[in-house]
Amino acid sequence: KHTLNSELKPHSYLDLGENFYTRVSPTPVAQPNLIRLNQTLSEFLNLDVNQLNTPENLEIFSGNKTLSHAPSLATVYAGHQFGNWNPQLGDGRALLLGEILAKDNNLYDIQLKGSGPTPYSRMGDGRSPIGPVLREYIVSEAMHSLAVPTTRALAAVSTGETVTRDLLLPGGILTRVAQSHIRIGTFQYFTARQQLDDIQSLADFVIHRHYQTDVQTEFPDNPYLGLLSLVVRRQAKLIAKWMSLGFIHGVMNTDNMLLSGETVDYGPCAFMDQYKHNKVFSSIDHHGRYAYCNQPKIAKWNVSWLAQALLPLIDTNEEHAVKLALSTLDEFEEIYQNEYQALFARKLGFNTASDNSNQLVNNLLEIMEKEKLDFTNTFRALANLLIEHSDATENFESAYDTSALTLKAKQWVQEWLDALSSEGIAANTAIETIRSINPAYIPRNHQVNQAIDQAVDQNDFSLFNTLVDLLEEPFTYKTELAQFAATPEANETIFRTFC
Ligand code: AMP
Ligand code: MG
Ligand code: MG
Repeated sequence: KHTLNSELKPHSYLDLGENFYTRVSPTPVAQPNLIRLNQTLSEFLNLDVNQLNTPENLEIFSGNKTLSHAPSLATVYAGHQFGNWNPQLGDGRALLLGEILAKDNNLYDIQLKGSGPTPYSRMGDGRSPIGPVLREYIVSEAMHSLAVPTTRALAAVSTGETVTRDLLLPGGILTRVAQSHIRIGTFQYFTARQQLDDIQSLADFVIHRHYQTDVQTEFPDNPYLGLLSLVVRRQAKLIAKWMSLGFIHGVMNTDNMLLSGETVDYGPCAFMDQYKHNKVFSSIDHHGRYAYCNQPKIAKWNVSWLAQALLPLIDTNEEHAVKLALSTLDEFEEIYQNEYQALFARKLGFNTASDNSNQLVNNLLEIMEKEKLDFTNTFRALANLLIEHSDATENFESAYDTSALTLKAKQWVQEWLDALSSEGIAANTAIETIRSINPAYIPRNHQVNQAIDQAVDQNDFSLFNTLVDLLEEPFTYKTELAQFAATPEANETIFRTFC
């Protein structure tokens, strides 16, 4: 029987030594209740689903039971927050319970978030209201289903306790799963302290866990330069994916960027409704540092701090190390551009990017911004538009209105249709491409907020559960669920998001 208790192994991070973490047990909570378990993720982690929904597991997910064979730990890190250096951060409200070998033969961290104070809590209480727990559950699982590398949600529980924010709020704990939680800020912590041995141990750990094969085959002579190059690649591709979905992370501090290349920290994040190039949601991002359009350049800036940390390992001659690191960092733009252009070309139904598709993408985005069109639905509506202009036999999806494009972008539509036919792409094929990359559903801010309000105010988790279920298949349009493709009414629109 594959229980959480039997599958969870002591975390291999423990082997790095006590410079890297503090052993801390979760603080028990008054009255835990299960909100949701992630069945598909459980199966992927080799956990027997029938064994998961037990009182014993609820005790583990709420931090009330500690595992005798696996000590839990809070990791230490530093980071640049909104560009300002903070030499001491760390897991202030999270604990690594251990790791599990999954079906893909990789190890995954099992982490509680909201499990009580640690030595790194600073002024914080170590807790989380259930609102952010539900938001992270919905959005991180949606990102996974949208094919974006991301941390995931295995379980959400309520604690039966209140958390003091501006108001008293019901508390919650999320069980988060990731390939690892090592951040650029983890490297920065040791660089700031000039602990070169620790930087090397950490780099070796990351290579071993995430990049072993690629480093051996592509960078046998300089594994640490290889590590930098592979992180550049993963991050550039990750940000291109965010951009292709209109996703705004909102708090791209260096401590919120993982070496594994997974999206982490779903705080004030949001998917755009109306397209705006420099859109910002986060209530604390006063200067738009983390605006939609700034994400690629911020990601590169963040990775440059990893490069800084790896310099002494890349070459003992500092000048030479800098030269190698800079030329590796310079790969970011090209990798990003290629991925961005390929993704957006497919969003228009092309197979690959070309000068023509790039121009069409730019022109469409310009029209969308001017006409305040919805990002998600405009791209999805392109399939309907093709049905209207061809003898394609696919079903029309009535939630996605083509009239804005027909009226406001007449010339663009003609150029786009001409380009598809000159590339010999049949309407049916283009429709299939469009619907495989442009989601029918995203976690819309107003719906996520509504789900959270119902849970907090009425203890009603039905909308939360509906959204999670729906977003497991975000590319499949369901007529009976057309309401979830609706853009917000003026009075429903969310302008600001909070951590
Ligand atoms: P974030 O902005 O979410 O990346 O968080 C920044 C830092 O604050 C991290 O080190 C968190 O662990 C810590 N933190 C956030 N919320 C809390 C809290 N309620 N209690 C303790 N630490 C927290
Ligand atoms: Mg964080
Ligand atoms: Mg956070």
